[in-house]
Amino acid sequence: MKVAKFGGSSLADAGQYKRVRKIIERDPARKVIVVSAPGKRFADDHKITDLLYLCSAHLQYGVPCDPVFEMVMERYLSIRDDLQLPLDLEAEFAALRKKMDEGISQDELVSRGEYFSARLMAAFLGYEFLDAALWLRFSLDGTVDTDASYEQLSRLAADRCVVIPGFYGVMPDGRIHLMQRGGSDITGALAAAALDADIYENWTDVSGILMADPRIVKEARSISHVTYSELRELSYIGAQVLHESSVFPVREKNIPLNIRNTNAPEEPGTVIRESFEGEEEQEGKRITGIAGRTGFSVITVTKNGMSSTVGTYRQILGYFAKYGITVAYTAGGIDCYSCVVDEKKLEPVKYAILAELQQEMKPDTIHVSEHLAIVAVVGRRMAFRSGSSARVFQALAEKNINIRMISQGPEELNIIIGVEEKDYKEAVRAVYQSCQ
Ligand code: ASP
Repeated sequence: MKVAKFGGSSLADAGQYKRVRKIIERDPARKVIVVSAPGKRFADDHKITDLLYLCSAHLQYGVPCDPVFEMVMERYLSIRDDLQLPLDLEAEFAALRKKMDEGISQDELVSRGEYFSARLMAAFLGYEFLDAALWLRFSLDGTVDTDASYEQLSRLAADRCVVIPGFYGVMPDGRIHLMQRGGSDITGALAAAALDADIYENWTDVSGILMADPRIVKEARSISHVTYSELRELSYIGAQVLHESSVFPVREKNIPLNIRNTNAPEEPGTVIRESFEGEEEQEGKRITGIAGRTGFSVITVTKNGMSSTVGTYRQILGYFAKYGITVAYTAGGIDCYSCVVDEKKLEPVKYAILAELQQEMKPDTIHVSEHLAIVAVVGRRMAFRSGSSARVFQALAEKNINIRMISQGPEELNIIIGVEEKDYKEAVRAVYQSCQ
């Protein structure tokens, strides 16, 4: 059994609904469908969710919201009419409009985006509509009550073909409660976990996670298999991938997550799993992906005899901790220690940290290198195989890119390279090409 979640761009108009139906019909295992609200049809278009937030703001300030509400209504009515669905949405919209005058919470109003989308999709597929309000339960602190939700959904959806609206659930008192933006991904993952699905498919408008930022490497291919740990390495340093809370439910149950493209359904997309050991091609590529970003500073502390003094590293890190600064990476040498930190976060406390460090540790030198970029080369197959770093460094040398810092642990999942910001894009391109 597969749980398939379709994002807003996959549901933007009737044409997209038809694509979705084709995808679902191709595989009878796609029994549980989770949908977002309709997204943009073209670049300057509006997402339904944004319009509903706007309606809610108008209501809050007592400004007439009808022009915006009509835009919302029209989107759904035109999808319904184009698909020739026998649904009396007018009556439901009239009831909703009345409720808006009487007083409706922002969460309830905005949740209607996913609600109507699911109603339409259920009718179009001939599946049953299953309201998220009937099973997705939040605890009082706003976290999902997974035990109660899983139990309820497995009762309600067992052996049925259903369409579920994403993005919302109910509080213990029955009030509708929204998730964070993009929350339908979480609803899909929760549904897959609740039903012990064989796979959780997340259908969007890209063919999976790309090996590198396409704004830098135009021809970047998508990653076919990636582990959750690799994904974390990539997203930590800047790759735009699924939010951690949206993968947690499926990761916990070891359910594979497959990111697919509604507009190119023949492409296999990216499969994310805990591990691929034993199942995978032996001779696969060493590098899974490349991520990175600019805007780092490296603070290097040098003090004669530092390496043989117990606790110096801890002391240095302590100053960053005291001021709430995360140290992204570290690199060390004899009597020197470097900490890589986010430049923007460091800025307001930089001089306080440096002054304390100077006063208390009395180092020989403290040097701050600014405007560095970090390139993270990530790959589970790099560990314990010789030559991985050599290829990467060779590629950078050939492009005359000076490496300012290197960090790689013994259980390496990544090779971290610091370069000047001006060399950043060229470095990403060079590393990408080296692994083709
Ligand atoms: N429609 C909601 C949003 O735009 C939730 C989602 O699409 O996942 O954030």
